[in-house]
Amino acid sequence: MTSLAAARLPESEQPLPVVRSVDDLRTQVSAWHRDGKTVALVPTMGALHDGHLALVRRARELADRVVSSVFVNPTQFAPHEDFDRYPRDEAGDSGKLASAGCHLLYAPTVRAMYPEGFATTISVGGPAEGLCGTFRPQMFGGVALVVTKLFLQAQPDVAVFGEKDYQQLMVIRRFARDLDIPVRVEGLPTVREADGLAMSSRNAYLSADERARAPELNRALLDAASALAGGAEAATVLEAVRARITAAGFGSIDYVELRDADTLAPVTRVERPARLLAAAWMGKARLIDNVPVLPA
Ligand code: AMP
Repeated sequence: MTSLAAARLPESEQPLPVVRSVDDLRTQVSAWHRDGKTVALVPTMGALHDGHLALVRRARELADRVVSSVFVNPTQFAPHEDFDRYPRDEAGDSGKLASAGCHLLYAPTVRAMYPEGFATTISVGGPAEGLCGTFRPQMFGGVALVVTKLFLQAQPDVAVFGEKDYQQLMVIRRFARDLDIPVRVEGLPTVREADGLAMSSRNAYLSADERARAPELNRALLDAASALAGGAEAATVLEAVRARITAAGFGSIDYVELRDADTLAPVTRVERPARLLAAAWMGKARLIDNVPVLPA
């Protein structure tokens, strides 16, 4: 689009500015900060859906300016995982971000994020242990590395993440506090399809039949959460979830676990806010979901 044509568009339809280098990102964010504006960051891996856009809308409520990053981060994928086939659609993402009110897209290349000779790792314990940390041992180190870089690159006042990736949210809160990174980390409840399935870029891997079966994961977790809140014994309830999702057509179940809502320490009785978390395979898609469990 020419700048002349862009100039005629109303603000809501202007193409979203994109930067690809740390220098260009910092130039824009510093200018906003000099003008007294607050800045929110919404990190994503792209292939955006309404869950991501809800984060952008929340970010707009929390800050004057919103930067969204789109970066499929290689360091959080193991070699056998779906880095290469992960869906990518920068043009589509850019239009969606603009319509949700994002002000700037940060879309660095892999080489810009991890230049030749890059040699630093970050290791997080505590909330990163168990659950996805067991089944995807590479993931939280990679997430901690890329999110730390994004925080230091963009220097946002606030960053918004989804509860859909609840363990990831707890890990990010933990390392941001541990490393004294001056950013407020905000969580947003999971955005779901009408039938309860958590929105996810990986839902694109589901066939029509698998898609029809997938919401049973959320239904099973919700029923289990009510039973646990009513005082039912955790081991029995968790076993019932496994049996129910297996019957619905889920293949391998990575985990179904009850954890403390803040520390993610394992719990067997719900005496303070807890979280029920699960990960299971439906065809080629590894689906995760979680629901709150509150004491009666
Ligand atoms: P991703 O692009 O999958 O790495 O996710 C980027 C951000 O969007 C993370 O903070 C996710 O937790 C969040 N997110 C993904 N799906 C949802 C959803 N269905 N509801 C709310 N947040 C989500």
